[in-house]
Amino acid sequence: MEIIETSTTVRPAANLMPDEKWGLFFDVTCPLEIPMEDFDENWWPLVSNIWMQWNSYKQANGNVRKDFACHLTKHRESSSRQKENVSIEKRRITKTRPSKLCHAKIRVLWLISLEIVRIERYKDSPNHTHTVLDSDRIKRSQAVRILVENEAVKNYSPPAITVAVREYATELGLGTSVSELKRKEVSNIKYKVRGPMESHLFCNSDLKSDISESISFLIEKGYHVENYHVSHRSTKSTKSTKGIVFAHPTQLEKLRSHGWLTLIDSTHKTNKYDWRLFTLYVRDH
Ligand SMILES: [Zn+2]
Repeated sequence: MEIIETSTTVRPAANLMPDEKWGLFFDVTCPLEIPMEDFDENWWPLVSNIWMQWNSYKQANGNVRKDFACHLTKHRESSSRQKENVSIEKRRITKTRPSKLCHAKIRVLWLISLEIVRIERYKDSPNHTHTVLDSDRIKRSQAVRILVENEAVKNYSPPAITVAVREYATELGLGTSVSELKRKEVSNIKYKVRGPMESHLFCNSDLKSDISESISFLIEKGYHVENYHVSHRSTKSTKSTKGIVFAHPTQLEKLRSHGWLTLIDSTHKTNKYDWRLFTLYVRDH
């Protein structure tokens, strides 16, 4: 039978801010008891980046016990896998984050009949050898990831998404856990979320099928499309320019009724063939 000391157990108030929950769940200085639903929805998503499952055991009475180790434990494993013939000097230099190796562990008990989750420090577990921000540098919590995904799906630029997520997270009391959020990560998450939606914009292996697919795509969207090919003869050689021109009937109508080409501009390297995109601007008011 599991012996549970109840005297020192803390039942955190339901209205704690995420940052406060985050702190409690990082250090686990005293056992915490949290209603199961609250744990799943509001606690675990905040710390999923700090703790990784070490083992799991289902007891006869249906309760589940899982031990979790700090994510920074992994760095110890990778550094001990160093090649043996590497000199001590070299090893000291190449070792990954030596100051942050961490052996902190927690034990989490799902007390099914009470619908309570009990979190306690693993027996003799040392303190973390690092701050909670170090954990956050390694991996993003589920809570932050969800915030980023919700913004990324709206398809604006990664820097703007990063700013929006920071502001939003601060309002939610999650400010600390987004302070390490990097633009690069936001880009990656955005790619994961948006990638499948934009798969029709990814190129094929050859120019010919890329062009024909682009044309089909534009025609499907109601554009007029034409191919062109122009040869330039000079005394030394013959060069050629090719491309496609596309315009929507509403744009052509504007050109017809206003008649003024105000500006023509080109953008370099808009695809992997380094084609240029020329845009024609018409003033319509
Ligand atoms: Zn740690």
